[in-house]
Amino acid sequence: MSNNHRPVYTTWYLRSYGDRDTHQGQMRPDGTVLSRCGVVFQPRLISRGVFALPSNPADPDQICPQCRDGVPANRGVVR
Ligand SMILES: [Zn+2]
Repeated sequence: MSNNHRPVYTTWYLRSYGDRDTHQGQMRPDGTVLSRCGVVFQPRLISRGVFALPSNPADPDQICPQCRDGVPANRGVVR
């Protein structure tokens, strides 16, 4: 069995309100988010009980460039 499966991430999560710290990823059962760029983090609460942004981030400066431009999820970048 090869391990080349690349998950498709469509949801944006805030890691912080700082620049380039909104990531596209998938929430895991433990409540952390595995992002497209390889960062695992505890997402910020957007509103009560809601972590995922309802759409693309409004401010482009807040978007993680690696999540925006696309990096193979299996590269395993850890920051
Ligand atoms: Zn990212």
